[in-house]
Amino acid sequence: MRSAADSDGPGAAAPVELPVEQRPPVTAATVLLIEDEAGIVDFVRRGLEAEGFTVEAAGDGEEGERLALRGGYDAIVLDLMLPGRGGLEILASVRRATPNVPVIVLTARGEIEDRVQGLEAGAVDYLVKPFSLAELVARVRAQLRILAEASSSTLRAEDIEVDLLTRKVRRGDRAVQLSTTEFELLVYLVRHHGQAISREELLSSVWGYEHDPATNVVDVYVGYLRRKLGRPEDPAPIFTVRAVGYRLGSTS
Ligand code: CA
Repeated sequence: MRSAADSDGPGAAAPVELPVEQRPPVTAATVLLIEDEAGIVDFVRRGLEAEGFTVEAAGDGEEGERLALRGGYDAIVLDLMLPGRGGLEILASVRRATPNVPVIVLTARGEIEDRVQGLEAGAVDYLVKPFSLAELVARVRAQLRILAEASSSTLRAEDIEVDLLTRKVRRGDRAVQLSTTEFELLVYLVRHHGQAISREELLSSVWGYEHDPATNVVDVYVGYLRRKLGRPEDPAPIFTVRAVGYRLGSTS
């Protein structure tokens, strides 16, 4: 979120693109946690704060909805079973008021029906209790990253930067020249950073082909990308996932 502190006032120079390592982390964000179980509130608050997030918590549905609709949050973590007002109702009204704020829903095991309803009401992501902090942090980060990318023409993953407008690619401070197909393949991998992507999915998404087990075009182009992005002492972060396909980066 921009604030007055981002500007040096009138006459300030045009914003300078900072190198990746100097940019503020995507975790410098405020999360609203709507959850009535004190133990979970404590656990989540400590975990997210340790990762650099600011956390505000509401212990019942009415308070949670009031805060959510007041706005100012980068993401909302929402329990479904709440006193006062149910999570699904809150989800629906938050979606109407602020459709771009990612909402991560916490559900108890066995609330599968609710999950389906929640999906229809527009939740972005789910975690089934009990969940690990690492899982929650990864989901919140992923949603914030998707949101940031949606408002920017630049995609980033690992030390790779892809500009969708100029079609320029950098790895660290080195410019990398890619062919059109290599570029499209890299964009797909960067958008799915940390996920194992099957050859079939790459083939249909990047090349538009139906499944054709006879072609090795995906492997060939991954080879080209690795060669162009990598250095002998610093291989490209594109990994082979056995029996699946490929993954850019090691974590989601
Ligand atoms: Ca609850």
